[in-house]
Amino acid sequence: MPVSLYVDGPRWRRHLLGAAAAYPGIVPVAKGNGYGFTIGRLARRAEWLGADTIAIGTYAEVVDVRQRFSGDVLVMEPWRPFRTDIPYDPRLVHTVGRLDDLAALGDRGDHPRVVLEALTSMHRHGLPADALAGIGRSPRGVRLEGHALHLPLGTGHVTEVEHWLATCPADRWFVSHVSDVEISALRRRHPDLELRPRVGTALWLGDRAALDVRATVLDAHTVRRGDRVGYRQRILPRAGTVLVLSGGTAHGIALEAPTPAATARQRALAVARGGLDAVGWALSPFVVDGKQRWFVEPPHMQVSLIFLPAGSAVPRLGDEVRAQVRLTTTTFDHVQIS
Ligand SMILES: *Cc1c(COP(=O)(O)O)cnc(C)c1O
Repeated sequence: MPVSLYVDGPRWRRHLLGAAAAYPGIVPVAKGNGYGFTIGRLARRAEWLGADTIAIGTYAEVVDVRQRFSGDVLVMEPWRPFRTDIPYDPRLVHTVGRLDDLAALGDRGDHPRVVLEALTSMHRHGLPADALAGIGRSPRGVRLEGHALHLPLGTGHVTEVEHWLATCPADRWFVSHVSDVEISALRRRHPDLELRPRVGTALWLGDRAALDVRATVLDAHTVRRGDRVGYRQRILPRAGTVLVLSGGTAHGIALEAPTPAATARQRALAVARGGLDAVGWALSPFVVDGKQRWFVEPPHMQVSLIFLPAGSAVPRLGDEVRAQVRLTTTTFDHVQIS
């Protein structure tokens, strides 16, 4: 297989159930590349988890979840008046972040369901506190489902959440990037409120050891020092093997910039260390014979050229080698869940 994501199914499902238990009222987030799994697969998994709502990133993603998940679909990109292409759908919940947009949705006459987003310290989308507080609990022409808070990564959010709860009363709050511990503390202090954590990474990718990424060895060529290889015909500084591995820019395989050997001294150190960054090479995410290896040149669209120095164990064609990639930026040819 080309670039594959192998999932230890029992371990992954155990983790998903544990995460759902740690985040009562969880709203699973499925967006973008579906955290490596695809959105469709996550939608079915959210159904399996028993979630009543799934959160997606954009309106374009509705089609990926609608037939696979039976609950509500919260679209996290803010609705805008130019979205005249989104008909009323009883399962769709819009995110609203501007007073003009709220008024425009209210004018439609079909009473769409909305969540009002607060402009938090993220400063991405949302209504400032005075605007949000001024809307009250029953805005005209829409069905208000709650308020939403999207906070920066990390912890230490309780003070900011408390501030919003105090200034903009609502019965239900969708919160993003608030830890399970922080949510428990908030819940104890506000037993009357419904807190709905929107969780993606900590849910789908929270047990990284259940996930294994592999690329396939497609070709191997013995090379001598001084040979020229690749699109760029770079001169090899050493003898060894050029491996052609599945996985290129189309999969999201990118150059991992090595610490650039900018100064003469750094270059000398890199040379002394035997590092190929001395000749301007970049570290690849591929691990062969126990070590992360260097790209011979930037990844091609669907394959990468990797250098294996003489003396290393050369894998056979068809072997799979480990790749240390970010799951949120990698598109797999094959996902296998045991
Ligand atoms: C992507 C996103 C999330 C989920 O983020 P993770 O870090 O993957 O848990 C939650 N809320 C909003 C608004 C998002 O855009």
